[in-house]
Amino acid sequence: MLRKGEWVWVDSGTGVPIGARVKVTDTGHQLLVDDEGKEHKLSQKEDSIRVMHPTSVEGVDDMIRLGDLNEAGLLRNLLVRHRQGIIYTYTGSVLVAVNPYQELPLYTADQVRRYHGRRLGELPPHVFAIADTCYFNMSRHNRDQCCIISGESGAGKTESTKLVLQFLAAVSGQHSWIEQQILEANPILEAFGNAKTIRNDNSSRFGKYVEIFFNKDGVIEGARLEQYLLEKSRVCHQAMEERNYHIFYCMLTGMTTEQKKNLCLGDASEFNYLKRGDCIVCDGRDDAKDYTRIRTALKILTFTETHCWEILKLLAALLHLGNVSFEGNMTWVQPASLGVSLTYRSFMTNRERVSKPLSSEQAADCRDAFVKAIYGKLFIWIVGRINSVIHKTPTNGPKYVRNSIGLLDIFGFENFASNSFEQLCINFANEQLQQFFVRHVFKLEQEEYTKEDIVWKNITFNDNTQTLDLLVGKPLNVLALIDEESHFPKGTDVTMLNKMNQVHAKCNIYIPSKNTHDMEFGIRHFAGVVYYDSRGFLEKNRDTLSSDIIKLIDTTTNKLLRQIFETQLSGAQTDGRKQVSTLSGQFRQSLDSLMKALSICQPHFIRCFKPNDNKKSMCFDRDLCIRQLRYSGMIDTIRIRKLGYPIRHTFKQFLQRYRVLLKTTVCDPKTVRHYYLEYDDDDDDDKDDRDNDISVTLQSQVRGYLARKSYKSKR
Ligand code: ADP
Ligand code: MG
Repeated sequence: MLRKGEWVWVDSGTGVPIGARVKVTDTGHQLLVDDEGKEHKLSQKEDSIRVMHPTSVEGVDDMIRLGDLNEAGLLRNLLVRHRQGIIYTYTGSVLVAVNPYQELPLYTADQVRRYHGRRLGELPPHVFAIADTCYFNMSRHNRDQCCIISGESGAGKTESTKLVLQFLAAVSGQHSWIEQQILEANPILEAFGNAKTIRNDNSSRFGKYVEIFFNKDGVIEGARLEQYLLEKSRVCHQAMEERNYHIFYCMLTGMTTEQKKNLCLGDASEFNYLKRGDCIVCDGRDDAKDYTRIRTALKILTFTETHCWEILKLLAALLHLGNVSFEGNMTWVQPASLGVSLTYRSFMTNRERVSKPLSSEQAADCRDAFVKAIYGKLFIWIVGRINSVIHKTPTNGPKYVRNSIGLLDIFGFENFASNSFEQLCINFANEQLQQFFVRHVFKLEQEEYTKEDIVWKNITFNDNTQTLDLLVGKPLNVLALIDEESHFPKGTDVTMLNKMNQVHAKCNIYIPSKNTHDMEFGIRHFAGVVYYDSRGFLEKNRDTLSSDIIKLIDTTTNKLLRQIFETQLSGAQTDGRKQVSTLSGQFRQSLDSLMKALSICQPHFIRCFKPNDNKKSMCFDRDLCIRQLRYSGMIDTIRIRKLGYPIRHTFKQFLQRYRVLLKTTVCDPKTVRHYYLEYDDDDDDDKDDRDNDISVTLQSQVRGYLARKSYKSKR
């Protein structure tokens, strides 16, 4: 019989039980009121009701300590804390950060001081605690650290990255020029690489890995940025209610009238490339103010006035190009002009080079490809320039000690109504990171058992190896097939899809297209099935500019344009036959080197969660959060834990519970410890955190007890 006020779990109809409380009506009937305020009749549900563990009623700092160690427990823990305005929670050493969508007084200098030098778990969960652990481990053990920050768009990855960086800059304590320069790289990257989307007003449209270097005294002495896969299509097209990159709107509101006149620029609304999403201003952003900020940052990173002007000129040119339209039968006076390059395509026949006019649509596509290439190269060039300022290779000889902390802020798993090649690349990256994460958690668990001398064997955990095999592992894997077809001059999206369907027909991770007209194929990712529309795959993957355009760029006297296309021009490969590496090839290469870098670091994980899709502060969407719990690896973490010994007591708790088994009535933990165990005291009992582990000192008893009672979880 349930008591009034008691907490239970009831079926929510979605597969994940919801918390509910027993209430008695005026007429004396019992009913249940769930976490969302919905009433349930008791009688019908009695069978499916389970009493809630006390830890789930109030919530806990570390979800590993939940008595109800399951999806419902994790979800409710986040919910309960979210209601109390607590955004950070641990799952073991992993930090879960729920986007508060409001300014919180959590990041002041006082808070930095508070978290500095404290152990993880000593204070309430916080992003600063993770940052401090990185810094401490690096300084203490001379070991490189990395922090992998993940989550879907708008979950708070970029903000968390900035907070970690802010903390590291504060505690490394020099306030040097280089430190300032590293911090100022952010506004520049965000100006050129972030945009307003429906999910996030400041959405990063590229991935980044920032390595911060420290000298032996723990002082920041440099950094290096790596960028991944900027979304180039945004420069020409935006979905409804989305904007182009911030920089365009900033320059148009921030430049002087004189400067604008010089470049024939007007308002943003005059440019096709800026109004596709029917959204010129973004609430809460001040483009003019941001422009000043960007200019300051550029100056700090030693971009000269000339550089800045050249960049503005190039951006203005892109905007003007977007307003160029094409009609049939255009004739050009100059043979090597932009107009000709955009409206004709030349190709080699067996004997000679011939030129063919393009349709107006083809010409517009050609123009867009040109613009996207320029913007993409400009972005890479800017990152390169920033690196040349903040990344100095040590000159003090081979003995020089340098440690680093790397921060990875990279796009999360994506599954949209329509998914294309970009999503495949992004999800491939996430598969790799997922495997990295799960293997790390598994290893930690294993180490814990080894430390305790507890048998851990025959425990296997199915990770996502199969999916990675399909993508890049086995012969003729998906990415290899796409690449192969991209190099094949006659290859099309259809021939590519046919090959994939054929080769992987029997693989249960691959879902072939339904019929010959269906252009979609599916892949079972760790976070769910994603269907990809294969149309456009090859073109995106080839990522080449027509040789006509390259030739044209080769005739320009614009220094910046020449510089950003340096690698294309240097080979003077104008016959278009050079086998340039494909987009997926380049991405794989940079991802390989990222994984290599991560694998030699001690990793830390921050999982950012979005509480709802409406950027609201006090609203918690259960379905959305359960999805994130699943693909953030939190569910895997508890699954791994449950494969072993999920229930752990501190020494104190253990003693309280099982002291009847001991041959003493003394119940003070310290005394018991000294009486019964050979324990070399290291004289700092107060600071001793062993009480927080399944106590090393009691291991033999614990082991014996566990063996006798076969305390292994049967759940
Ligand atoms: P992501 O990089 O994951 O796409 P962002 O880091 O850009 O997401 O966060 C999106 C928005 O959410 C931010 O612009 C900010 O308004 C809000 N936000 C995220 N984290 C925090 C935080 N810790 N405190 C306050 N607001 C936050
Ligand atoms: Mg971001």
